[in-house]
Amino acid sequence: MPVADFQTYCRMLEKTREGHYAYPAFNVTSLTTANAVLKGLAESRSDGIIQVSTGGGAFASGSSVKDMALGAISIAEHVHRAAERYPIYVALHTDHCQADKLEKLVIPLVEETERRRAAGRPNLFNSHMFDGSALPLKENLDIAVKLLERLQKNDLILEIEAGVVGGEEDGIKGEAGAKLYTTPEDTLEVARRLNGIKNARYLLAATFGNVHGVYKPGHVKLKPSILKDCQEAVVKQYGEGARFYLVFHGGSGSELRDIHESLDYGVVKMNIDTDTQYAFTRPIAGHMFKNYDGVLKIDGEVGDKKAYDPRTYLTLAETSMAERVKQAVGDLRAVGTTMFKG
Ligand SMILES: [Zn+2]
Repeated sequence: MPVADFQTYCRMLEKTREGHYAYPAFNVTSLTTANAVLKGLAESRSDGIIQVSTGGGAFASGSSVKDMALGAISIAEHVHRAAERYPIYVALHTDHCQADKLEKLVIPLVEETERRRAAGRPNLFNSHMFDGSALPLKENLDIAVKLLERLQKNDLILEIEAGVVGGEEDGIKGEAGAKLYTTPEDTLEVARRLNGIKNARYLLAATFGNVHGVYKPGHVKLKPSILKDCQEAVVKQYGEGARFYLVFHGGSGSELRDIHESLDYGVVKMNIDTDTQYAFTRPIAGHMFKNYDGVLKIDGEVGDKKAYDPRTYLTLAETSMAERVKQAVGDLRAVGTTMFKG
């Protein structure tokens, strides 16, 4: 199926919230990792989200170009073409983009979508994240309001973050002693500022002890009940229509019980990066150790072309990552939930 359009994406998000399941959103940086996600989703008969980060976009554009928007466009163009061969819907999203990088990633991508729409072509991306969590809430929301007004005009959904996720992702470190738990007051302010924008849709990453990256069990003290408190507060103040679509960041290494509880409180999207990175690299490491004298030219020998052909180990990596994608779909109760009727 082609990439989901705006109406389909909205229905997908509504269905997940009603059904207490969620879409995994996988960070990809190359054709191979994007293909791994499509394969894993299709084999799970689940729709899902493919996302590109600022660093991922820069990487995909090539190390001498390092243009994050260009790399993101390249990956998105590939996904638009390849997704046609799979019996599921996929949505395209851009991950964490701090205020100082908006001009390098989100704005050029919105402009690209505006050009495409003007030419009668479908949107390139479905949604974009602005990460203002390092800013005071007022500044965060001032930027979010302006951005959402522009996104709404183009059938694009905005994801924002309130509260700070610990750990490190893509070179951005959560500060020590930062606020790891969003408060209901913060989220009421989010609703007050954003819900007035007509026909606009947004997703909210609220933090409840999440940590980016991966930690040994016990390090992370998640409190999913914070999400419940935030939903109850916003529904009480603004009515059922204001109920949030929540996003779970920093989910790697979380207990399944906490993940499931968060789904019951309206999490519709969970970001997955670290776990799929490891799943991708693990069989490559195995291949290199097992075929040591084939991948290297030792003592004047010529090595084994089959062993060092990147396709050999990248196929193993793609398959292993697709398996991890399937596990994530299962963890989020999304197996068999595709809305695509082929
Ligand atoms: Zn985050």
